[in-house]
Amino acid sequence: MPREGVKQINITMAKKTHDKLRKAWESEETDKKLSSWVLDTLLLYAEKEKWLKNYAPHLVFVGIDKNGILLRDRHLRDSIVEVKLLDNRLWCQQCSEKNCMHVFYAIGLQQIAKVEDPERRIRK
Ligand SMILES: [Zn+2]
Repeated sequence: MPREGVKQINITMAKKTHDKLRKAWESEETDKKLSSWVLDTLLLYAEKEKWLKNYAPHLVFVGIDKNGILLRDRHLRDSIVEVKLLDNRLWCQQCSEKNCMHVFYAIGLQQIAKVEDPERRIRK
């Protein structure tokens, strides 16, 4: 019998995804159960996305380039701005800076985890 104020969902995922999540959960050394940790993480993700939209409503994620994030900036007449990862630092091609709104926004995106540093790739 379902408890009051509680909804239940079942999530099926690939073993590979489960293993990655379990590894991340184990590295956090939390008292939460894996399922609670996954749900809390998803909720934080949704809240963070909402926060980013309020923080920079003029910026929109467009995609990932070879080694950077592409953004559309309404303040720059919908120009595409590229934030590149170079030598383990994010660098805005538009502003020629590492401390601009585009860089801060890019850091907040989940997709930043998929960007590769070409310098590190060469060193491997
Ligand atoms: Zn910038």
